[in-house]
Amino acid sequence: MTSLQHNYQTVLSEITQTEAAAHRKPGGTKLVAVSKTFPASDIREVYDAGCRDFGENYIQEWYEKTEELADLPDIVWHVIGDIQSNKTKYVAERADWVHTIGRLKTAQRLSAQRPSEKPPLQVCIEVNIAAEPNKHGVAPEEAVTLVVEVAKLPNIQVRGLMCVAKAGSSDEELRRQFGRMRQLLADLNEAGIAADVLSMGMSADMEIAVECGATHVRVGSAIFGRRDYR
Ligand SMILES: *Cc1c(COP(=O)(O)O)cnc(C)c1O
Repeated sequence: MTSLQHNYQTVLSEITQTEAAAHRKPGGTKLVAVSKTFPASDIREVYDAGCRDFGENYIQEWYEKTEELADLPDIVWHVIGDIQSNKTKYVAERADWVHTIGRLKTAQRLSAQRPSEKPPLQVCIEVNIAAEPNKHGVAPEEAVTLVVEVAKLPNIQVRGLMCVAKAGSSDEELRRQFGRMRQLLADLNEAGIAADVLSMGMSADMEIAVECGATHVRVGSAIFGRRDYR
């Protein structure tokens, strides 16, 4: 086993243990391996260990990797970064999931550009859960309204909500943010929307996210190592 494969297995077992400790159904949390800045060869290594779900932030970089990994037909691509209008076409054509819908306009473009032979694009609405200035996502109070609008689009399926917790939060603050996300999902369900996804938790806070009901954790550095953005 390579060190990346070992890291992947370690993260998987941490998730399993946390689910058990929180009395959650085993296997209720999907691990999305966040591979931004890392080469396609690293993705292939983690894929060979059994991982199928990979998250990427930078559309150009990700697009090149989809070409290099075109021989892996069952790989599931999750776009977890901001999408500029001139890049929505690539995402509509190649992504399976988008976790970071913060505006109706982005969703409209993705729906219009989604090829008809593909299944609907699975999306989450990004919530700026701690109301941080200059952060992507809708305010928590606006999440239900945006979900209702996005849910009307034909080639998109709204699956739920996503957040990035405020950096430097204490465990208690994380519990409050993730708890509010869980409440928002319940609000959606009460409004008659069958959403079932909470995409929350990263390398540093995935345990608390799983305790709070995350269905998807997005884990990068704990699997691939420290990122070098140069
Ligand atoms: C980079 C990134 C992650 C992974 O972060 P790690 O701390 O490396 O686990 C998760 N979600 C988003 C939105 C990211 O940009």
